[in-house]
Amino acid sequence: MKPKELKEINISNKKVFIRCDFNVPVDEFGNIVDDRRIKSALGTINYCLDHDCAIILASHFGRPKGGYETKYSLSPIAKRLHKLLDIEVLLAPNVVCDETINMANDLKCGQVMLLENMRFEKGETTNDKKFSKTLSSLADIFINDAFGVCHRTHASVAGIANYFDDTNKAAGFLLSREIEFFYHIIEEPKRPFVSIVGGSKVSGKLEALHNLIKKVDKIIIGGGMAFTFLKALGFEVGKSLVEHDLINDAKDIIDEANKIGVKFYLPVDVIVADKFDSEAVAKNSTIQEIPENWLGLDIGPATTLLYSQALKDANTILWNGPMGVYEMDKFSKGSYKLSHEVARSFATTVIGGGDTADLIRRAGDEDDMTFISTGGGASLELMEGKMLPGVKALI
Ligand code: AMP
Repeated sequence: MKPKELKEINISNKKVFIRCDFNVPVDEFGNIVDDRRIKSALGTINYCLDHDCAIILASHFGRPKGGYETKYSLSPIAKRLHKLLDIEVLLAPNVVCDETINMANDLKCGQVMLLENMRFEKGETTNDKKFSKTLSSLADIFINDAFGVCHRTHASVAGIANYFDDTNKAAGFLLSREIEFFYHIIEEPKRPFVSIVGGSKVSGKLEALHNLIKKVDKIIIGGGMAFTFLKALGFEVGKSLVEHDLINDAKDIIDEANKIGVKFYLPVDVIVADKFDSEAVAKNSTIQEIPENWLGLDIGPATTLLYSQALKDANTILWNGPMGVYEMDKFSKGSYKLSHEVARSFATTVIGGGDTADLIRRAGDEDDMTFISTGGGASLELMEGKMLPGVKALI
């Protein structure tokens, strides 16, 4: 079941509360270094402005300790919003103090106000009922457009939605797109459906692997997690990252794939290094010949070729997790080449996870992917087959 979309509810001339994700990266001086998250919220905000709404925006930003901290004020975000929307954006002095409530009550159609950082209130992360109710009392309509926090049961994401009935709450455009792509791709993929799963550890993606294995036609494994699988198959992997307590789980996943006929791909060669360092000595090695004291930090050229071949007939590709330590030039080639291959394919390509999105941008393939998810943790939970609390609260 999906939540209502913004266009399905009547918002004209109403006061809308939009939960956004303005948790943007900033430099050591507090300057916004990447405003994509703010820009991507403009669609929903402008739609509400076009429908003569009075708009109350809310977001979290960083990890304040539970009270006002200038460092985590949304003031730079208010300024950037003002620039992008070309209208005044009123910044509330706090989250729900009397002055803020008065400001919200006085807000006129066509005006935009931004509440202070939701996490200045302790009740935000505890999903406090009283705080949720106070937030809800500010507006007639609740719109959630913050996919990146939908896996959190927080007051401005989940609790608040309980105080709006079905006709007065909906998913914003960003959230709708995320739900559309993820539910659609996982539940009704055009086959063959291939999932590429990489990143550092099996532990972080164990549940996702268990869920995906039942849905995909092929699964391609890369990154540090590959070594736990290789070890489970009896290979000696030197000093590569192995989670010894998960070797049995890894074996179970391989067995399950074999049992249900899912093709399971593991690296056949890797780039090994004498230490975890961008200046390390590195060379190619088959997985049968990984030197005892070396560690695998990227997939090798034969594996890249093999994986490219396995992707050739894909109609749907879901990718989460890099193939190697892509942050270091020496160990980025496997991830970059696979990124080019995915970008070139005619499949529907969906990218989940912050690192993978970053890698695809660095590889210059961003514009050639069908969809890049904005939420790391949230997209992983969707891959695990979970219903996100923020989405559930809208239904
Ligand atoms: P994750 O957050 O689990 O998706 O992991 C992403 C991180 O995995 C990236 O920072 C990569 O540098 C790291 N990574 C990828 N391959 C390896 C590897 N072979 N050994 C250690 N770390 C890796």
